[in-house]
Amino acid sequence: MWRNVETAPADSILGLTEAFKNDTNPEKVNLGVGVYKDEGGKTPVLQCVKAAEKILLEKEETKSYLPITGDPLYASEVQKLLFGEDSEVVSTGRAVTAHAPGGTGALRVGAELLKKFNPDAKVWISSPTWANHKGVFSAAGFELAEYSYYDAATKSLDFDGMVESLNKVPAGDIVLLHTCCHNPSGVDLNEAQWKNIAEIGKERGWIPFLDFAYQGFGESVESDRCGVVAFAATGVDFFVASSFSKNFGLYNERTGAITVVAPNAEDGAVAMSHLKTSVRVIYSNPPAHGGLVVATILADAELKKQWLQELSGMCDRIKEMRSALVDGLASRGVEGDFSYITSQRGMFSFSGLSDDVVKWLRDNRSIYVVGGGRINLAGLTRANIDYVCDSIAEALK
Ligand code: PLP
Repeated sequence: MWRNVETAPADSILGLTEAFKNDTNPEKVNLGVGVYKDEGGKTPVLQCVKAAEKILLEKEETKSYLPITGDPLYASEVQKLLFGEDSEVVSTGRAVTAHAPGGTGALRVGAELLKKFNPDAKVWISSPTWANHKGVFSAAGFELAEYSYYDAATKSLDFDGMVESLNKVPAGDIVLLHTCCHNPSGVDLNEAQWKNIAEIGKERGWIPFLDFAYQGFGESVESDRCGVVAFAATGVDFFVASSFSKNFGLYNERTGAITVVAPNAEDGAVAMSHLKTSVRVIYSNPPAHGGLVVATILADAELKKQWLQELSGMCDRIKEMRSALVDGLASRGVEGDFSYITSQRGMFSFSGLSDDVVKWLRDNRSIYVVGGGRINLAGLTRANIDYVCDSIAEALK
């Protein structure tokens, strides 16, 4: 069967991790894959997760299947986190949520649902976007198109270009938006800009699909949801894919959720019935552990407080590394204004490093950066920052 088949290309980001693992240089630094690392270079299990797991281990009585859409407590806690405790979206029941295996699973289930009812739609993705967006929506059979987003010259949001592109998207097409901590650029919309985009969506009649993989990694869980709130206020149908891989550190537990927001509870119930049929034929029902951990933490005031503290600890460390990188390059006399690195948000920064420099850093210094120059700031530590700054300074000489 495989004799005449060409080998598929390795995943561009996960392939880099493989090369990093095989590198024997003791000074190697991985600034590639989007995983949080602490000051010791480890991806820790959060203390609130450990505490919730202890509770679950004591309480667990069965490994029987969960419902198709997962644990109901999980769905209700996810909605409160997404929209806010007092949101009318939650109280009216016009949003329906299913536990999906990670943010990727949520995107894929949402894509399947959209394909069923909107088979001829195009999916509009930001230029640039997370590489797997293309993979997920093409695999669901959609044709893709791009809207303007990042201005490489100013290293900031091209909001006028974005508005112009989104004003041309035909009704019924799907627009995929990064709710916060845009991957790969780290460049986000502010609240007023979100309101503007939500109004355009309503006017034009395109379907918003919000990818929310970093809630809490921008400013706070509340302010990071301003895009979701803006679309909720318009009363239109929209989709949200949540991931708890990063903000709860539950990467390998595949914990995410797909939420479909409808104009009213009756439409929401219809959406839910189809969400169930989509899930049933893809993975039948979700893995339990990660969802139960998240639900246990969010439903317990003390554990939730602890989670928010740990989350802001992760964000503060990343912000510290952003400043250390900018200062480190300046103190080495590297020409250019790198201040944009401190205004970008989340784990990533488009460093502006060319592919030649990225290759030089990898070949000569064992510093791994994704092609295109995306840096995961969480890979920097006080122990490796000087090495990285020295290396970049030398590469740019
Ligand atoms: N969406 C974006 C923008 C991401 O960066 C990621 C992960 O890196 C995901 C979705 C998927 O997250 P998960 O690992 O939960 O599938």
